[in-house]
Amino acid sequence: SAKVIDGKLVAKQVREEIAVEVTKMKDVIGIVPGLAVILVGSRKDSQTYVRNKKKACEAVGIKSYEVNLPEDSSEEEVIQHIASFNSDPSVHGILVQLPLPRHMNDENVLNAVSIEKDVDGFHPLNIGRLAMQGRDPFFVPCTPKGCMELLHRYGVEIKGKRAVVIGRSNIVGMPAALLLQKANATVSIVHSQTKNPEEITRQADIIIAAVGVANLVRGNWIKSGAAIIDVGINPVDDPESPRGYRLVGDVCYEEASKVAGAITPVPGGVGPMTIAMLLSNTLESAKRIHNFK
Ligand code: NAD
Repeated sequence: SAKVIDGKLVAKQVREEIAVEVTKMKDVIGIVPGLAVILVGSRKDSQTYVRNKKKACEAVGIKSYEVNLPEDSSEEEVIQHIASFNSDPSVHGILVQLPLPRHMNDENVLNAVSIEKDVDGFHPLNIGRLAMQGRDPFFVPCTPKGCMELLHRYGVEIKGKRAVVIGRSNIVGMPAALLLQKANATVSIVHSQTKNPEEITRQADIIIAAVGVANLVRGNWIKSGAAIIDVGINPVDDPESPRGYRLVGDVCYEEASKVAGAITPVPGGVGPMTIAMLLSNTLESAKRIHNFK
């Protein structure tokens, strides 16, 4: 049966590596990487994400700065805060927690972040560079970067292989497909309008599933020995669980783990990698800005 790709373990290793580098940077040039997080409104889930990001920063020695703005703030106010972080030398990464309130235009706000501090990798110019041959973005979005890191650390060969990404969202599917292509895989994208998706996924040596449909990918969608990265996080009813539900991926783990060569569990696969990659992007940014090798 498939080797389990342990994202929790890899994320811990990555965080430890980052902590070592942060300490070295502080000792050698007296600079501490800084991440600024802007939260607009009071969505409970967004507050939790922001809190987790701050805690993760503290644990590796990255300084975090937070701005909380009321739900009825104007787009201009948000952009003013971004502008002041853009010119603040102690801030190396700027992150606007999404979703923004409905009266704001995401693109206007994301466009205001300096591309050199865009640690989420959502600035249109960074995405454009990701899509271009011979160009590299300053930053790659954290969740797809985490998927690639898992493939690399588990020695999954990408060059010349067939990869299928299921889902084409701006934050996961689309950048994941671009990254696989940059790593020299031959990439197909399966989405909500694809007919007979299983005929396409069955050809894949690597599958990245980022859909949001519980257990969509069945055992018979998978080629024997394929590497499966399951990004999906889907609650399903479970009367046995104290919360009344449990989380499952987009891939039917029980079936897939009998066919695949390697697979990420949910939870404990891609999930823990996302914040680790945010820390990695922030450190990378501080190193680049201060020319610290
Ligand atoms: P999204 O809703 O923005 O995009 C879903 C994509 O799946 C769309 O491109 C759509 O075309 C495609 N799709 C929908 N139904 C389909 C079907 N039946 N067959 C094939 N494709 C289909 O979602 P997202 O933000 O990309 O997130 C996807 C999943 O990943 C969700 O479960 C989300 O919770 C999870 N997620 C996890 C992390 C993490 O682990 N850190 C981060 C982001 C998202």
